[in-house]
Amino acid sequence: MIDILFDTSACDAYYGAPMVNVSLPKYIDARKVFLQRERVSGLLKLSDLRRLRGLLANDRGTVYAELRFFLDGSGNRIIKGKVKATLNVICQRCLEQLEILIGDDISLGVIESEDLASGLDSTLDPWICSGYKLSLSELVEEQLILCLPIVNHHEDSDCTNKLNYQANVSAKKGDSSKDSPFAVLKTLKTKSL
Ligand SMILES: [Zn+2]
Repeated sequence: MIDILFDTSACDAYYGAPMVNVSLPKYIDARKVFLQRERVSGLLKLSDLRRLRGLLANDRGTVYAELRFFLDGSGNRIIKGKVKATLNVICQRCLEQLEILIGDDISLGVIESEDLASGLDSTLDPWICSGYKLSLSELVEEQLILCLPIVNHHEDSDCTNKLNYQANVSAKKGDSSKDSPFAVLKTLKTKSL
């Protein structure tokens, strides 16, 4: 998955601009984009993606998406493309910051209400949009949340060493502590006897 992350040649050729300079529109007009078979690509700010931001260590990182809109043979509104992001999360082993790369392909069928989902091709995930204002930031955010790993931790040995060090420190503290609650209990017992 990771090696596709920085392959932006397709979109660069299409837009002729470096990807860092392009922002993805937050909203698009659902009445037009499918009929006009539009394509959009660009970056979103993590500070605008509050739900995703809540799962991260900070708002540093990049979120990139390229999306194309069209109608399929049955007139269904389809969004295909990909999302990619570099994000900082907390390592669940050592609790330090950790940078991760995530990305996924998108295949969505846009429907007006949930009960229409059964009519979609099984290769499409439903995306509900009842009005004409389709939020691309919500869409990208949702896809990224879905592909966030459940557990994050460093791959390198640094993380484990750090953890061992912390474990040793707390074990030593426990041994030598004069204020141990158990020590206090012991004294109380002796006194009461
Ligand atoms: Zn770690």
